[in-house]
Amino acid sequence: MAMNEKRVAIVTGGSRGIGAAIVKRLAKDGLHVVAVARNADKLAEVVAAVVAAGGSAEVAVCDIADPKAFGDLIDGLADKHGRLDVLVNNAGITKDDLVLRMTDEAFDTVIATNLKSAFVATRAAARPMMRLKGAIGGRIINISSVSGVVGNAGQANYAASKAGLIGLSKSVAKELAKKNITCNVVAPGFIATDMTQVLPDQIKDTVKGLIPLQRFGQAEEIAGVVSFLASADASYVTGQVICVDGGMVM
Ligand code: NAP
Repeated sequence: MAMNEKRVAIVTGGSRGIGAAIVKRLAKDGLHVVAVARNADKLAEVVAAVVAAGGSAEVAVCDIADPKAFGDLIDGLADKHGRLDVLVNNAGITKDDLVLRMTDEAFDTVIATNLKSAFVATRAAARPMMRLKGAIGGRIINISSVSGVVGNAGQANYAASKAGLIGLSKSVAKELAKKNITCNVVAPGFIATDMTQVLPDQIKDTVKGLIPLQRFGQAEEIAGVVSFLASADASYVTGQVICVDGGMVM
């Protein structure tokens, strides 16, 4: 098949929350965006909104915790479009518990979904990104968390996965720089999505007190930073961790 004229981006967790905002923003920036998640109906809603706004996007239903399925998906998408320019590893889950009570299953599932998936995707994306001919090379953007930067009681599994993403990203940045591929991390603080909606009001109030800007962030405020990192303007930025958290961690 002929090469897609647009830059092609894959965004995991594109069915809602931060991922949906990233899909919409990158499509607005002129990229063709593949939105990946498990819920086909929610993905279709996001893609329909992109298309209604004049953008270009498609749905890819996949459980990213299944390495074979996810690796094959990325191979297939790179073949189908003749290119792969941007990979945003955004999908993530929490299974919070105190470390004394945390089950192996809660630890392993979070690591598989949040961290191993990013390794699998990076390995699959690197080769097509190396073949890019344009001035803007490959861009890998991993969505971590301030929990991965400073740790968080009750989130040993999640914080380990998110800290792991930072080590993975810095290593990938060093390894792939000579191939004109950058790899950076965005570490959100508290963003208003389904993930934080479930927290008790008392915790939400306590957290707000720790945020200098005194409010939760919006998904679009993460998408804006991802948009920058995917753009030509970020050509000399690699291996960095950008906290987007209203000043909570500095
Ligand atoms: P969310 O609203 O819970 O959405 C999570 C997304 O990940 C959904 O699209 C979900 O889609 C997808 N997903 C989860 N497991 C998956 C799997 N096995 N395979 C494929 N897709 C999967 O979360 P969010 O708040 O937007 O968070 C997005 C990212 O930002 C996560 O990595 C999260 O850790 C990080 N983050 C969020 C906050 C925050 O305050 N919200 C703060 C720091 C970091 P399906 O359910 O349809 O599969």
